[in-house]
Amino acid sequence: MTHNLRIGIPSKGRLSELASELLAQAGLNFRRQDRSLFARVSQLPVDLTFLRTEDIPVLCAEGAIDLGITGSDLVEESNADVDVRMSLGVGRCKLALCVPDTSPWQNAGDLSGKRLATSFPNITERYLAKHNAQVHMVNLSGSVEIMIQLGVADAIVDLVETGSTLAANRLRIMTDIGHYETVLIQNKEKREAATVDRIIRRLEGVVIARDYSLLEYNVPREQLAAAEAITPGFKSPTISALEDPAWCAVRVMVRRQDVISVMEKLETLGCSAILQTDITNCRL
Ligand code: AMP
Repeated sequence: MTHNLRIGIPSKGRLSELASELLAQAGLNFRRQDRSLFARVSQLPVDLTFLRTEDIPVLCAEGAIDLGITGSDLVEESNADVDVRMSLGVGRCKLALCVPDTSPWQNAGDLSGKRLATSFPNITERYLAKHNAQVHMVNLSGSVEIMIQLGVADAIVDLVETGSTLAANRLRIMTDIGHYETVLIQNKEKREAATVDRIIRRLEGVVIARDYSLLEYNVPREQLAAAEAITPGFKSPTISALEDPAWCAVRVMVRRQDVISVMEKLETLGCSAILQTDITNCRL
C-alpha cells in the first residue's frame, strides 16, 4: 500500500519563508490554511507538516516525517540519526566561539574556568573537550548574543551570518567551530522512494538554477579552446557554427558569482555579443 510522503518544513522563523519559496519554485504547490499544521501538495502524493525548525531532525529520525527541511547545525546538535540528502543552497552560516572585542583571550584553553552561553551545548561541549577547556556552560534557547552584557557569561557560541549582530554587541570571533546551511534530511527507512527521488530531482533543478547563469557569446574559432578553458560549463559547453566560418557561438552555464569576471576574460580574448541569462529551473 502506498502512503502520502510526509515532509516537515519550518512553521516560522528565518527558514520558513526560504523553504516555502523553494518548494513552490520546485512545483510543490500548497495552500496553508490559517496557520494549520498540515497542508496537502497539489498533484503529488505529498503532505506537508509545519514544525519548529529545531524539532525537525528528531521528528524525522523518529519517523513522524519522511523528509524535512532544517539547518545542518540543528541536525548535528540533536545527534538525530537521519540521512542528509542534499544542501539547499540557502541559510549558510557558521557557528563561532565569540568573546568581547577587548578581551585578551586567544584560544579555547584561555576560557578554562570561565562561563560560556550557547544554544548549541552538544556541539560546543565536543569542541571544548577536544581542546581540553573546562568551561561552565550556560545553556539557553536564544538571545545568546546579549548574555555577556547581562553578566551571565564571559564568552558565547552562536551562529554568525553577516557578523552584524556581533559588531552591535562588541564581540569578536575567537574561532569558527563549524559551517552550516539549510539541508534536506530523510528518515533512514526511506519510504516512498520514487516520490522522494522525484522531489529531490525537482529541488536540485531549482538549487542549481539559483547558482548558475546561462552565458552566450561569439568567439573567433582560433580562440575556442582558450574560451572553453575559461567556461568549461557544468558538463560541457554547446558550440554552434556561425555563418562566418571564422567564428562560432557558445552556450554555457557559469556560476553566478563568477559571471562578471568571466565576461571580462572572454572580452579580453576577443569574444563578442556576450549575454547573461538567468535560469529559474533546469534538469542536467
Ligand atoms: P548576523 O547578524 O547576520 O551575523 O546573524 C546572527 C544572528 O542570526 C544570530 O543571532 C543567529 O542566531 C542568527 N542566524 C544567523 N544565521 C542563521 C541561520 N542560518 N539559521 C538560523 N539562525 C541564524
